[in-house]
Amino acid sequence: MPIKAKSSALVFPVAEAPPTGQVVEIAPGILWTRIPLPFRLDHVNVYLIEDGDGWAVLDTGIDNEPTRAAWHALLDGSLAGRRLTRLIVTHFHPDHIGLAGWLCERFDLPLLTSQTSYLACLNISLSPGALDAKPYRDFYLRHGLDAATTQRVATQGHGYLKMVSGLPPTFLRLVAGDQLEIGGRTFEVLTGNGHAPEQVMLYCAADQVFLAADQVLAKITPNISVWAVDPAGDPLGLYVRSLTELKQKIPDDVLVLPGHQLPFRGLHTRSDQLIAHHEARCAAIAQACRTAPRSAAELVPVLFHIALDPHQMSFAFSEVQAHVNYMLRRGELVWASSSDEIERVAAPVSRAGAQMRPTTTRARRSRAGHPSAGGSG
Ligand SMILES: [Zn+2]
Ligand SMILES: [Zn+2]
Repeated sequence: MPIKAKSSALVFPVAEAPPTGQVVEIAPGILWTRIPLPFRLDHVNVYLIEDGDGWAVLDTGIDNEPTRAAWHALLDGSLAGRRLTRLIVTHFHPDHIGLAGWLCERFDLPLLTSQTSYLACLNISLSPGALDAKPYRDFYLRHGLDAATTQRVATQGHGYLKMVSGLPPTFLRLVAGDQLEIGGRTFEVLTGNGHAPEQVMLYCAADQVFLAADQVLAKITPNISVWAVDPAGDPLGLYVRSLTELKQKIPDDVLVLPGHQLPFRGLHTRSDQLIAHHEARCAAIAQACRTAPRSAAELVPVLFHIALDPHQMSFAFSEVQAHVNYMLRRGELVWASSSDEIERVAAPVSRAGAQMRPTTTRARRSRAGHPSAGGSG
């Protein structure tokens, strides 16, 4: 019996996830299972797509003993009797790519993913300490982040590596627009940015099934972060663009199979909710910046109303930065002059105010590595 959520107008074809180690046939020839995660978000969804005499796997969980045990339990239990044929990874986050090296080597699977997913994981794997560099630390400190959180962000490459089992030496590159045949069924490869660069999604038009990865989740908003290596990046703008493209390409009542939480129908409704969520956050930032210029760190309490530990703070700060960069590009914020080393933004009080940028703007933008004026979209 489908459950219709009152507030969200999303329809959930099943009310509960399968218990650990069990699978559910969520669509003809597509099994859904969950792999536990040791975080507040305590699971990742894994899908198995019928592929001839076996199963193509989509995503893996992080690399740790419980995840390997969960895979052994699945292969000896619910999946016994059929082989794994290939591994498709949606994006480079450790909960999705973490066990790729182990699974591919153990079961002799080819890895299919986007070039960016592969290279992003490879880059951290080859050089986990590279994030701990002065230009990156300076970026965080300049935007007001405290020393403890800056330390945490600068060293997170090592944390990532603990959750990833490496990569196979080759991969099969998936590119947006590719047609991917899996077990007599055709999936179109889509990619989207914002949550992770070139995140892979698969759409089967004939069966109206959409494997959405982390781009569209039913009840939580995927993290959208600016990173110091791309300090003027606009992941939120790219995310909104991706959601808009998904709505144009895929019908509302498609079955969405997401990377976390429950499968649902209502892709357009949920995409609109996610866009509205971010617009509301932009409005809150604009409101706060009308009274006084603020740094990204000073804006964190505007969006997050609870005490944050350094781990949570690092995500919150990077998420605020994404909204700030989005609003700067749209002319909804401008750089303000300040008397200390901290960079702050202000909201222009009127359209005319937007044109009265402080004289320090250009110097600040170039120092921060921002594109020159006119280069924003
Ligand atoms: Zn993710
Ligand atoms: Zn995820």
